[in-house]
Amino acid sequence: MKYIYGPIKSRRLGLSLGLSLSSDKTCNLDCVYCQWGKTEKKVFQRNKYVNIDEIIKELESWLDENFKKAKKLKFLTISGLGEPTLHTQIGELINRVRKITNYKIAVITNSTLLGDPFVRKALLDVDLIVPSLDAVDEKIFKQVDRPHADVNLNEIIAGLIALRKEFHGKIWLEIMLISGVNDDIRHIKKLKKIIQLISPDRIQLNSPVRATTEKDVLPVGKTKLEKIKKILGNKAEII
Ligand code: SF4
Repeated sequence: MKYIYGPIKSRRLGLSLGLSLSSDKTCNLDCVYCQWGKTEKKVFQRNKYVNIDEIIKELESWLDENFKKAKKLKFLTISGLGEPTLHTQIGELINRVRKITNYKIAVITNSTLLGDPFVRKALLDVDLIVPSLDAVDEKIFKQVDRPHADVNLNEIIAGLIALRKEFHGKIWLEIMLISGVNDDIRHIKKLKKIIQLISPDRIQLNSPVRATTEKDVLPVGKTKLEKIKKILGNKAEII
């Protein structure tokens, strides 16, 4: 299968089947912690990167062939090799998946395109959005996420705030913390102010444990993670 992967069991989503909206890594960021390796060519333009008919066909045949496993699925998760909202038909894909299954749908996004009202509208019908926000300081954002030149941090933050107003499902904001880069307490306090405006249902603190694109990416220690969690308040959890 080219676009369907898993199912993957995770603590936060349970058993979920992944749907990728690209066949090669297609992203507008080049995060130092990315598990898919370096983004060779960052793209910003939204496009029909793959034919969504093929994704639906693969999903239908996976569900037919894996009847028993399918019964245990908790989520269909749209993420995959890159940023799924770069695909112009993500909204249409969500509608078509809704028509053929009753599973909950989650979208994992790097948030870069949420400033675009059409992108936010395309996601309104899912159950859960897991957007990332690793930094609220331009310099730190560039260090961690190494964005395409057209990605704008202020638009990301404004997009997340607008999403909360328009979207009635759950938002679990994910922060990937890298030791010595975005885990400084002054930065965490700035993040907290912005997160209060976004008002997610949960704040999920993560730190890289698997192999990352860059070798000198260090996870944040348990004691510091606990301190950050305490600062961010009772919606925060370490995942
Ligand atoms: S946004 Fe996701 S896919 Fe893109 S570089 Fe970052 S971690 Fe990798």
